[in-house]
Amino acid sequence: MATIVPYTFEKKEDSAVYFTSFVKGMKVLIATEKPFAAAAVDGIVEILESAGHTVARLEKYKEKSELLDAVADIDALIVRSDKVTADVIAAAPNLKIVVRAGAGYDNVDCAAAKARDIVVMNTPGQNSNAVAELALAMMIFMSRNCFTPGTGGEIKGKTLAIHAYGNVGRLVGQKGKALGMNVIAYDPFVADDSVFEADGVEKITTIEELYRRADFLSLHIPATPQTKGSIGYDLITSMPKGATLVNTARKEVIDEAGLCKALAERDDIKYVSDVAPDCCADLCNCAGKRYFATPKKMGAETAEANINAGLAAARQIVDFFATGNRRFQVNK
Ligand code: NAD
Repeated sequence: MATIVPYTFEKKEDSAVYFTSFVKGMKVLIATEKPFAAAAVDGIVEILESAGHTVARLEKYKEKSELLDAVADIDALIVRSDKVTADVIAAAPNLKIVVRAGAGYDNVDCAAAKARDIVVMNTPGQNSNAVAELALAMMIFMSRNCFTPGTGGEIKGKTLAIHAYGNVGRLVGQKGKALGMNVIAYDPFVADDSVFEADGVEKITTIEELYRRADFLSLHIPATPQTKGSIGYDLITSMPKGATLVNTARKEVIDEAGLCKALAERDDIKYVSDVAPDCCADLCNCAGKRYFATPKKMGAETAEANINAGLAAARQIVDFFATGNRRFQVNK
């Protein structure tokens, strides 16, 4: 049994919550519509229970009502792509922290959490290698006509353009270089040029140049109000003959009407995506083998990524309750 140790919260002037004493005995819910690998769950439970917390699990749930019921008495929540909407937060009066085991946190209503001083964290970098490997695999798959008969192409010597040079983008660049690709990258938020220089990657300063030079364009921007629908007809049709757009980011960053128009007009451009866009049927009709989408989001679906992200989420919760550490908070 976990020990219940009294704890106190204090409010700072900026309304942030921090802890003034060691906290045990919190109830942590792992809510995963698509469960973690079994080894990841075992590790998460061990980390949390060893620190004196209790763990509840809600896996493969079908109805949102199941999640609403399960959060009623929890202090902390670990999710994967599960939607933590305002009503889920409202149904959890004791909730203090939500950790999204993964990089993107567009599935969590960060504003609703912030309004209640609930900390939202992600686990950056923990699943990046899995996504980067998928991106490279997709490039080869599309170059080889989706593994159907016919003469394909090689990725060696081609220009790999990376849109957003974060954890995944950087690994894609490293792997692309190892395969003999010429790597260029655009990320206006990476101010330090030495990051690109250290990787031997050419820094590009305009999005237009990035797309104009891309034999393979690998997308790694987060889905934000600024980026949603931002990749459309003009950028896609500015790519060179035979170019491939590879999307392991989020389907929402694509302007789908523009994508369909581009692939219908340009019979040399290819699109490959981790999870199908809403316009999947249209693309199948107009693009045939120039289009492929995974049946479910698969980027982070490796045992290694599951374990890395799940264990990191558990450790971050333990640390948060023990010391107030909010290093990975995303809703400041
Ligand atoms: P990250 O936070 O490490 O990197 C994101 C990068 O995007 C940062 O360097 C940031 O500067 C840059 N950026 C933000 N806005 C930009 C803009 N408007 N233009 C150009 N660059 C911009 O995240 P990451 O781990 O590299 O993951 C990137 C995205 O990939 C996630 O947000 C997520 O949506 C997606 N992802 C998908 C899967 C999957 O299963 N397919 C798994 C992990 C991540």
